[in-house]
Amino acid sequence: MLSYSTQLIEDDDIEAVVATLKSNYLTQGLRVAEFEEALCSYTGAKYAITFNSATSALQGAYSVCDIKEGDEIITTPVSFVATANMFVTLGAEPVWCDVKLDGNIDENQIEKLITPRTKAIVPVDFAGKPVKIQKINAIAKKHRLLVIEDASHALGSSINEKKIGSFADMTIFSFHAIKPITTSEGGAVLTDNEVFAKALRLFRSHGIVKKEFWNSDMVSMGYNLRMTEVAAALGSSQLKKLDKFIAKRDKISHYFDERFKNKKMFLTQKIEPNQVSSRHLYPIILNPELQCLKEEIFTELQERGLGVQVHYKPIYHNSFYKEKFGEVSLPVANDFYRSEISIPCNQTMSMEDAKYVADTFLDVIHKYAHRKCSF
Ligand SMILES: *Cc1c(COP(=O)(O)O)cnc(C)c1O
Repeated sequence: MLSYSTQLIEDDDIEAVVATLKSNYLTQGLRVAEFEEALCSYTGAKYAITFNSATSALQGAYSVCDIKEGDEIITTPVSFVATANMFVTLGAEPVWCDVKLDGNIDENQIEKLITPRTKAIVPVDFAGKPVKIQKINAIAKKHRLLVIEDASHALGSSINEKKIGSFADMTIFSFHAIKPITTSEGGAVLTDNEVFAKALRLFRSHGIVKKEFWNSDMVSMGYNLRMTEVAAALGSSQLKKLDKFIAKRDKISHYFDERFKNKKMFLTQKIEPNQVSSRHLYPIILNPELQCLKEEIFTELQERGLGVQVHYKPIYHNSFYKEKFGEVSLPVANDFYRSEISIPCNQTMSMEDAKYVADTFLDVIHKYAHRKCSF
């Protein structure tokens, strides 16, 4: 089965991991610091603080900027639940902003959602396509809000040749197995803000600072959310290959764009000329006439070897959110969920695989195209 996204682990990755396993430090050694430096030099951000997952990184980011009970956070429902979960655990409330047909937050609808309780804007670079971050930053600046960018999909994405990682107050990346690069599980917060960076280091490691000799002092509340040395060694090895991974996913994406152009039954995500996308996903947006057939289309694609997936059920549709915050319904986010399918596009695929995916997808779509849904 060709997967919508998957890892590529090669011999040099394995050697880096094995060397670390044979070394003296499995945790709290130099590998984590090396990986953090590599993340800074790759993205251009001043500070990188790694965590054992992006979920932990989000928890850290929201905590160190003092998001708390009574705060409102403007965010997108088209994301993985962790984006919102980690500020909800702090007592803050999600204020859902609708998305555009590319899956990204609609920057033109943010401002009207701001209230005196708004604390931060949390956009997500869907599939790796950068959000309109300059516009979002301008709104945030005008209203004195923070911008925390969940860039879990977008390591390696850029705008005007500047990498995602230092546009927002804090930027979160995920190194989960299927994300643009992997440490098996892992995440990081990148920031140019020294105060946040210091607080994040304390937060991930018990709030303890080392003093002279054996002495240490716990100065703030903290957890153990550290990345292991083994994971960091894998991360450094993977990061060297990120551009190669992206080039491959980009080549496949361009091939799909070409095969799918002028097709009337669906849309694809357009990457703007001044942007690079990590191409974490290749999303297809089915036309409304195909929405009622999506389950059949999904099943047939899977049966024919395409490991497709749907990104995402709007977060507000989950039982927990309905029970806690009541029913929410945004037209484009709802429609996006009814229409979206992510087809296989990953760095392990050959161009023959890509051709098989495009041929099969078009074949299945044509088969269903005559059975239009009625409204
Ligand atoms: C994967 C993902 C996360 C969570 O990342 P983990 O590393 O699995 O904790 C958060 N937000 C988005 C948008 C993601 O895709």
